[in-house]
Amino acid sequence: MDGVAAYQAHNADCVIGFGGGAALDVAKVVGLAATHPGDILEYVWDHPQVRPIVNALPHFVAMPTTSGTGSEVGRSSVVSENDTHLKRVVFSPKILARIVFADPELTVGLPPAITAATGIDALTHNIESYLSPAWHPLCDGIALEGARIAAAALVTAVKEPGNLQARSDMMMASMMGAIAFQKDLGAVHSCAHALGAVCDLHHGLANALMIDTVMAWNLSSAPAKFEELAHVCAVAGGGQGFAAWLRALKRSVGITGTLSSHGVKPEHLARLVEVATADICHQTNPRPCTAADFEALFKAAM
Ligand SMILES: [Zn+2]
Repeated sequence: MDGVAAYQAHNADCVIGFGGGAALDVAKVVGLAATHPGDILEYVWDHPQVRPIVNALPHFVAMPTTSGTGSEVGRSSVVSENDTHLKRVVFSPKILARIVFADPELTVGLPPAITAATGIDALTHNIESYLSPAWHPLCDGIALEGARIAAAALVTAVKEPGNLQARSDMMMASMMGAIAFQKDLGAVHSCAHALGAVCDLHHGLANALMIDTVMAWNLSSAPAKFEELAHVCAVAGGGQGFAAWLRALKRSVGITGTLSSHGVKPEHLARLVEVATADICHQTNPRPCTAADFEALFKAAM
């Protein structure tokens, strides 16, 4: 709302979003709230009296400085409620950026830990959208190629921060993941949304801490797709080796430890399960995921 006040005080006609996914998402809703009445949370898709987006939005230019969410090519904005920290989503093609400057040089200063966590987020988007049983061959093609590019580039991007080819590949994989996940995501993201809301974990790190556990659990529900993912990511051992490959990848980009070593405590578990189960992403997980399943997955990742 401070952004809206600044927009109006300057009689502006344009919003430039510059930063990571959260910054770009804020920029999207500044433009929306500056031209529409009411609170921004009244525009989230599942609000009981969701307000329509009817007015023209300001010209929106996106300049990502991370390679993770791909928000610069996404038609959604994720905003957290102040009191509950729950993540709510505004969906509309109208909030898409009109112009994107996807410049990998803007990411060379990212610290290794953020490169790793955001990069795993991009990889997770490609993997989860490909595994979603929804029918969308266009997104499947993009997701597989996005996974291939991210799998090949992530370690280099972390270890050689100035390597522009690796930075460029990760920025592309990030955009491809965001385009692919129009199809939808899966249970890793439901867990990550809960970990963000309940324990304030970084979104990419939360995905990284869950992905191998969830993928090992998913394997039996989509064996052919895991074979294909293992093929494009050059995983030795095929689909059966995919979860172990993810664990090794995390180690090589410096993401170590478990949920508990990142501050998640047993007393958080009930709320984590509640938030993850209520999250929409797992509805397109290849394996149906109940509250009991989420409890088992969180415990396994502790
Ligand atoms: Zn994500």
